[in-house]
Formats: sequence, C-alpha cells, structure tokens
Amino acid sequence: MQTLRRASAPPRRYLSDTPASRKALPFSLNTLRSSEDRADQGNVLRLVMFGKPGAGKGTLSARLVKKYDIASLSTGDLLRQHIAERTEVGREAEEIVAQGKLLPDDVMLKVVASKLDHIRNKHWILDGFPRTVPQGELLDAHLKKQGTPLSLVVNLDVPDEVILSRISDRWVHLPSGRVYNVSYNPPKVDGFDDETGEPLTKRPDDNPEIFARRLTQFYASTSPLIAYYTRAAQTPTRLPRAPDRNQHPHQLAFPPAHRLLLKTLAGTTSDEIWPQLDALVRDAFPALRETAASLETRRRHSLSDAVLAADLSASTRGDS
Ligand code: AMP
Repeated sequence: MQTLRRASAPPRRYLSDTPASRKALPFSLNTLRSSEDRADQGNVLRLVMFGKPGAGKGTLSARLVKKYDIASLSTGDLLRQHIAERTEVGREAEEIVAQGKLLPDDVMLKVVASKLDHIRNKHWILDGFPRTVPQGELLDAHLKKQGTPLSLVVNLDVPDEVILSRISDRWVHLPSGRVYNVSYNPPKVDGFDDETGEPLTKRPDDNPEIFARRLTQFYASTSPLIAYYTRAAQTPTRLPRAPDRNQHPHQLAFPPAHRLLLKTLAGTTSDEIWPQLDALVRDAFPALRETAASLETRRRHSLSDAVLAADLSASTRGDS
C-alpha cells in the first residue's frame, strides 16, 4: 500500500514562465506546465469510497461534501431516485435492489457515466460504484478517455458484526441520501430530516435477512476490487495530455505521471473514521477548498472558545 504524499513546496522557478519563454526553451528544459496540468498530477480529488454495505460510505461522503467543495455521486441514491420516479432504469432496479442483488454492470455504467461527465472539472466522490471488477475496469476506461483518472480509493474497514448490529437502526432521507442512526447519530426530531424537516424512511433492503445477502454479495463480487486497486496503486500511469497551443511542433512532451493512492481506514463508527479521512484528504489534496458554511462554523466555534477562555480567566482572577 502506498504511503501518503505530503503537499510539496511550490516549485522554485529560475526561468520566466511565459508562453513565449516556454516556446523558446529546448524540450529538455521545458518542464514548466500550465496550472491545469499541475492539478492533474494528483491534486484533484477523484475518490472511490469503498467498503461493505453499511460501513458508512454515505455518512462519510456527506461529511466531506459538507466540509469541502466536492461533488458526490451515490449509485444507491441514484437508483432509489430512479425507482421513486418510475424511470426505465428504476423499473428494472426495483426488484433487484429490494432483493439485495447487483444490477448489471452495463446498466450501472450508463447510470454513472453521464453524471460523471457533468462533474469532470470538479473534485468528486463516488459512493457505491464500482462494485465489481468489470465495473472498475469500465470506470477506468471512461475516466482515461476524459484524462481524469481516479486519485484516491478509501477502503473503509468496519467489522461485520458492528455493521450487522446497527443496520436495523438506520433511517434515510431519500431525496438527499442523508443517513441517520437512531443509536449514535439520531435526527434532531425523531423520524424527520434535520435540514428539510421531511419524513425519514426505512430502506426496504435494510432488514437482517436481505442485509446478510448484501454482505455475501460484497465478499463474492466487490471485495476483489481491493486487489485490483492495490495493483493500480503500484503502477504509475501516463495521462494523455491535451494539445498545447504554446508548444513548438518539434518539442517532445512527456505526459505527466499519475499514481493512485489507496488507503484503508479502520474503525467501528464513522465518528472514529472521520478524523482519519479528513486528515488524509487535507494532506494529499491541498487544493481542496472548505465550503463557506464550514468556515463560518469554525469561525463561530473559535469565537465561542475565545469567549469561554475569557470567562474562565476572569473567574480564576475573581472578577465579578
Ligand atoms: P447502496 O445504497 O450503495 O447500498 O446501494 C443499494 C442497492 O443498489 C445495492 O444493494 C444494489 O442492489 C444497487 N446498487 C448500487 N450500486 C450498485 C452498483 N455499483 N452495481 C450494482 N448494483 C448497485
């Protein structure tokens, strides 16, 4: 498994970096790149959140989306929306999802591909896809065409018995995919979503019998993806480079090397895993920006900490 890459210091530049100067340099010296190229060398988060059903993929993805400017795609949420809207995919999916089985790979790629095309210029998270090695291969081929390969796979390692014991406590807000757990992450008002006030529902496939089947399905079809991504993480690839208008036709251009980062994060609750995940994405993807809401929450916390500290020091001094 690969170790975490730290944010490197900005490159030192001894040569002026203008289109004209880049054109004039011999190819052996022409290593200065546009900012888009630099972003592609590992700075754009394209994350597959991987783990057993119920491991907390949805909860942790939602926390990342709340904190950072990241788009997220959950295939389970997409399918539940298709089912609710009675689309063609939804009618095909209804029975399969209810039984805890997997939809065919080609159907899933169709569901995901057009959505991925919409967010290709953003940081993004995929939750629930791929779930088979052929899906992994289809995804890689699709992303390779776009020149936007995966940059991170997070493998959530949560023991089976922990997942099984908490699954019957899980409730979801269907339109947003927000997940609650009545034991350790309850909604503010019982049975209703914190943000919209709309009713929560129980997923029909969150019962012990179907859930056991989903776990078996995970070990049979999904877990081989770990070996697939372990191999990918050991093999740097070259990205196709978009034509550069500033490049001399006789210059040789070496496409940037790209390496996938694979990390296993272990814990028994999402609260335990969250700090590890947050530190991982912050260290490996310094280009991520916090959302305005997250910055505001932090500003308020540090203000109230300052007020508390001031109160405390006033009371220890005996001020009234
Ligand atoms: P999830 O919400 O991710 O647990 O997904 C719920 C259900 O949707 C799964 O149990 C499958 O029936 C179906 N599903 C979601 N993602 C996929 C996928 N990548 N491949 C096949 N079926 C999927």
